[in-house]
Amino acid sequence: MTRRSEAGDTACSYRRTGHDPEPGVRRLGALTEREREVLLLLGTGLGNRELSRELGIAERTIKAHIASIVAKLGQQTRTQAAVVSALAHDSLCTDPSCSRHPGRHDGSPWGVLPQQPDHAGTVAA
Ligand SMILES: [Zn+2]
Repeated sequence: MTRRSEAGDTACSYRRTGHDPEPGVRRLGALTEREREVLLLLGTGLGNRELSRELGIAERTIKAHIASIVAKLGQQTRTQAAVVSALAHDSLCTDPSCSRHPGRHDGSPWGVLPQQPDHAGTVAA
C-alpha cells in the first residue's frame, strides 16, 4: 500500500497530471474557420452524429476535424478539446446576443452589472 503524500491529497489535478487544458486556448489561432466552428459545438458535449447533423457535414468529416483540432490544440482526447472549447467560448462564439458574453447585450443576465449605490451610507462596509 502506498500512502499518498500530504501534498498529493490537495495537489491540483491539472498540475499533478500535467493535463491543463488552458494552454490549448492559446493555440486557437492554429485552427481553420471550420475547425473553430466544430470546436465551439464540441463544447456542447454533443456526439459526432449530432455535430454532423448540426453542421450538415458527414460524420467522418466531423471525426477528421476533431482529430485535427485535438492535435492542433496539443490535446490528447476530444473531451480535453471540449474543455478548451468551454474555456474559449468567448473567442469562439460569434453570436452578438449570446448570453455568455458579459456586457455584449443588455438582455443578458450577465450583461448589466448591478448598480452600486451612489449615495453615502448604503454601501456595505
Ligand atoms: Zn455563445
